[in-house]
Amino acid sequence: MTAVILDGRLIASEIKKQVALQVGQLAKRGIKPFLATIQVGDDPASSSYLRGKHKAAEEVGIQSENHHLPANTPQDKVEALLGQLNTNPRVHGILVQLPLPRGFDEDRIIERIIPYKDVDGLHPINQGKLAAGKEELVPCTPKGIIKLLSHYKVPIAGQRAVIINRTTLVGRPLANLFLNRDATITISHSKTPNLAQITKTADILVSAVGRENFQIKPEHVKPKAAVVDVGLTRVEGKLRGDVDFEAVSKLAGFITPVPGGVGPMTVACLVENTVQAASIQTRG
Ligand code: NAP
Repeated sequence: MTAVILDGRLIASEIKKQVALQVGQLAKRGIKPFLATIQVGDDPASSSYLRGKHKAAEEVGIQSENHHLPANTPQDKVEALLGQLNTNPRVHGILVQLPLPRGFDEDRIIERIIPYKDVDGLHPINQGKLAAGKEELVPCTPKGIIKLLSHYKVPIAGQRAVIINRTTLVGRPLANLFLNRDATITISHSKTPNLAQITKTADILVSAVGRENFQIKPEHVKPKAAVVDVGLTRVEGKLRGDVDFEAVSKLAGFITPVPGGVGPMTVACLVENTVQAASIQTRG
């Protein structure tokens, strides 16, 4: 048996087509969705992610700009810039590229973004709404995972989902999205003993670890499970996911490739969130 490949590139391009249509609708009302990003420092991975985000914005007709600040910028300067973007009526979406250089209080920075412009869905207000069952501006990677599973009609309601990750970027919001869709969820992390015993119970297994010494092997996976690979790590200069794709795809029912799985879905959901934010802010 070979797993069905969950083709994130294909589904992301379909989402972007829909978003471009929405941008066209907003243009008829004189509204031009605008995304502002902030990068502090020169982390090459952050630069590459941001290039992908701005390229996607351009593809769908969203205007965007990146505020690139040196790594030694004081925290209050970044907060002041956020204050300006918050009150600028031309700006509908604000994203701070994480991680910030050492020494920054990331939580405080995220809390400075006005929640209705928080297109990454990381502000505690947006996280809290999601935890309360209200999906407004939802973090892009978890949102993309749900869209990918739904597109391929992978059942979620009544299924057991196991997530390896407990961050506000991936694990916690994804758990809430699964809960909202009637899955039974388990969150595991670096302190979870006997990981394979837990992951083997998963109808849907999501791995978002990204450590060189960590790999999901067939012994972690229930036959016919849907396996979603989020984690990214560089091994000998090459980017790889958490999952041993070759071996696991022989027993899983569905599997995401790396690259071409969750990554493109994340970017597509960012442009979708930006248009959603513009629509919310310009509602009559
Ligand atoms: P993170 O802050 O490093 O979190 C990693 C998570 O993995 C933590 O919850 C950690 O547990 C857990 N973990 C670490 N070692 C483990 C182990 N040996 N066994 C079980 N769990 C372990 O990273 P993140 O920001 O959430 O992102 C996770 C990964 O996804 C990264 O590789 C990132 O690059 C990737 N990512 C990809 C996309 C995409 O679009 N493809 C988007 C977002 C993130 P503790 O909480 O106990 O430390």
